[in-house]
Order: sequence, then C-alpha cells, then structure tokens
Amino acid sequence: MKALGWIALAVASVAAVWYLVRRALLARLSRSPTAEHLGIDNTPTGKAVTRLLYIAPAMDSIRGIVRQAFPLARVSSCYRCEALNAAVGGSPTSRHLYGLGVDFGGIGDGEATLFALEIVRSQVDQVTPRPRDVLAEADHLHIDFYDPLGELDGPESEWRATRWRKELPSGQFASL
Ligand SMILES: [Zn+2]
Repeated sequence: MKALGWIALAVASVAAVWYLVRRALLARLSRSPTAEHLGIDNTPTGKAVTRLLYIAPAMDSIRGIVRQAFPLARVSSCYRCEALNAAVGGSPTSRHLYGLGVDFGGIGDGEATLFALEIVRSQVDQVTPRPRDVLAEADHLHIDFYDPLGELDGPESEWRATRWRKELPSGQFASL
C-alpha cells in the first residue's frame, strides 16, 4: 500500500505540474492588450485549446529561429476569439480564431519581416508541426498551421507544402 501511495502522489504531482504549465502556456497564447483594454474575455476553450497545444512546439522553435537575427522578436498575437478578431480587424476566416495562427512582432518593417521569413524558411525542417502558410506582413510575420482535428483541411494526406508569401503595398500577397 505504501508503494501505491507514492505512485499516487507522483501521478498527482505530474498532473499538477502539467496543469500549471498548460495554464501558463494558454494564458501566454491568448494574452492580448486589446482584449484587456476592451474587456473581452479571450480565454480559449474546447478545440482551440487542443489546437494551441498542437502548435506550441512549432511556435517555440520558430521564435528561437527568428531571435537568432531579431532578439526582440516576440509573439504579438496568437489565439483570438471572434470579438477580439473583429476588434483588431482580422479576417473572418483567420486561423487565429481557431488557435492555429501566430504573429511574431518586434522584428521591424516589411524588409525585416521578409528577412525573418527567409531565416525561418532556411530552417523549417526543424519546425514541427510544419507551417501551412508563412506571410511577411508590413510589421509582423504571420504563421499558421493545418488543423490537426481534420475539420478545416481534411486529413493530413491532403495537406500541401508550406506556402511562403509577402504582403504587397496593395495589401495582396505574392508567392516567394
Ligand atoms: Zn496573423
């Protein structure tokens, strides 16, 4: 019985640590000054949590890669509930709504984000899961991912190679 007690304690400890790590991670990925300012509750729930936990390793890898050249790079936006996405002028089909999109800010202007994109492209074999779309936008690098739940993109066998694109002054995107 004594051994069982220790095992139960160990399992409970691991569960408690995992709970705290998970809670801190989700808080980091849903934190938004705009949401705080407007009083929007941007807490992810259900499938968004599953998806955020799925992309988290890739997000950490990409942040490390971008910081090689841009030490101040940081996640500027990740999960957005519908109210927050509307408030920041996000696309109604944005992957941020699902917990599958992440923006890196603190890089600089369009030329710098283009350079950041090329750095990520050169090391993308170190990123798992691999990105679906990487966009060099005017003031941030947007990266999004396929849906591991199979609802948005079908099964993994139908996923394409990563698209690499840059934003033009017209607001449209050109392939790179
Ligand atoms: Zn974005």
